[in-house]
Amino acid sequence: MLIRNPITPTIDYEKDGIQHGYLKLPHSYDGSAWGSLMIPITVMKRGDGPTALLTGGNHGDEYEGPIALFNLSNEIELSDITGRVIIVPAMNYPAFRAASRTSPIDGGNMNRIFPGNPRGSVTEKIADYFQRTLLPMADYVLDLHSGGKTLDFVPFCAAHVLPNAEQQSHCVAAMEAFNAPYSMMLREVDATGMYDSAAEEMGKVFISTELGGGGSATSHTVAIARKGIRNFLMHAEILAGEPEKSESISLHMPDDDCYISCEAGGLLEFCCELGDRVKKGQLLARVHDYERTGRAPMNYVSLRDGVLSARHYPCLIQIGDIVAVIGEEN
Ligand SMILES: [Zn+2]
Repeated sequence: MLIRNPITPTIDYEKDGIQHGYLKLPHSYDGSAWGSLMIPITVMKRGDGPTALLTGGNHGDEYEGPIALFNLSNEIELSDITGRVIIVPAMNYPAFRAASRTSPIDGGNMNRIFPGNPRGSVTEKIADYFQRTLLPMADYVLDLHSGGKTLDFVPFCAAHVLPNAEQQSHCVAAMEAFNAPYSMMLREVDATGMYDSAAEEMGKVFISTELGGGGSATSHTVAIARKGIRNFLMHAEILAGEPEKSESISLHMPDDDCYISCEAGGLLEFCCELGDRVKKGQLLARVHDYERTGRAPMNYVSLRDGVLSARHYPCLIQIGDIVAVIGEEN
């Protein structure tokens, strides 16, 4: 028997016009016996055409996506579009409100919990609603991430290597249309339970981003998100016009050597900057033992020629954390 998801939308996905409303998820807790979580959503529809599903706040401490999407929700005029745009600026809304990566209600990491569960925890219920209701409606899917409080990235748009070459080429074309300063063929640390995989397994044109980090956003990274979203909608032929293009550096991640993990916690000293071109064997960072003086730091070197694409943030690091990510230039 098909179990209904408890979320009810206050908008009608099939109605022409611009509607701002909520995904209403019943949530009974000490502070509100019969209360609901109200997750903001905008639906814009004009006539027949493709559907784009735009999300931010999959992780709650990543801000370029939510800022750009709250902007977009009140900037687009109905006459600008053909088809449908569904905007959820903060997917993991409880995490977004708490400024944390995962949900304060159930600890749920939205990007590790797909396909979700309609009878599960709050995060699982939201994931299930995307899995069974929103993703099936979409042709084009864009999920905007950044580094959050513990990573910082060069601003890139990403696609994945996929088993279906034709689908992959559509995703790559969308990544190129987004036109971030860097374009990355991304190798995931762990693709299990990701929204990305859910969208890709349904055959959607899916791209994501990493647009900075450190748990904040800059005018520069927000501008990249805003331009990229419009370019993406133009590429989908939902928004009229030609994507605005400038140079984008192409990167890929041939193997797991791209990821450098911390093997003893301490005080992190970076020896190069994000975006620097580094050589195999070049010193990237030192980690000092912060429990006593007079000890030699542990050195972390690049295992390949490439671009320093991500780094740990800020300066205290634990064993097992990612120190750095090196992307190889195409
Ligand atoms: Zn994220």
